[in-house]
Amino acid sequence: MSKRVLVVEDEAPIRELIALNLRLADWNVDEAESAERALELLAENQSYDVAILDVMLPGMNGFSLCELIRKNNNAIGIIILSAKSQEHDKIQGLSIGADDYMTKPFSVTELLARVEALCRRVGRTAVESDFQNLDRIQSGVFTLDKKSRILYKNDQSIDLTQVEFQIMELFFENQGTALVREKILERVWGENYFGDIKIVDVNIRRLRMKIEDEPSSPQYILTVWGYGYRWKG
Ligand code: CA
Repeated sequence: MSKRVLVVEDEAPIRELIALNLRLADWNVDEAESAERALELLAENQSYDVAILDVMLPGMNGFSLCELIRKNNNAIGIIILSAKSQEHDKIQGLSIGADDYMTKPFSVTELLARVEALCRRVGRTAVESDFQNLDRIQSGVFTLDKKSRILYKNDQSIDLTQVEFQIMELFFENQGTALVREKILERVWGENYFGDIKIVDVNIRRLRMKIEDEPSSPQYILTVWGYGYRWKG
């Protein structure tokens, strides 16, 4: 079955260039010139693997669209495109649930590589590991159900994106061990990820908001200064 992608961009030449290249790479592509049109397409078809969202759109912008998509779809991979290179835009995009971020002007080849990498990630059933045969892993008050891909805290389910789930998987498999950020990036985003290491920190910040009692003084995902993070279940 062909993989499906939704390209949301109001500038026709850019949108068509992206769509053409994705089709050449065997993707099933739908195009939307606005967030409003994208929402219609998403309502008709929930089976998109990846969505590429431009930030600057007429009407609703790409950030708001991203937030809306994430409200009822954690499985889709989301890449944000922006003409702005400011760090705070990037952080905003990632903190509202995007998985990746590219700044215009970008190389279509690199965008394609990132779409493919993201699709592999969201489509993967589990990070390869010795724990493959265990369906449920327990750590303190948390339980990670690998079959349903749901994290529970005191039997309450917590909504995670696929990327967040994979980070939790990595933590659960390395309980008490300090993980260097580069390792987290490599295991979750893939070895050929071109992006910024900060994407790890942004996802950790988002995870803390979801799982910690007090996100500002975390007791489960601990920071190892100048190195990375350590899970203490
Ligand atoms: Ca635009």
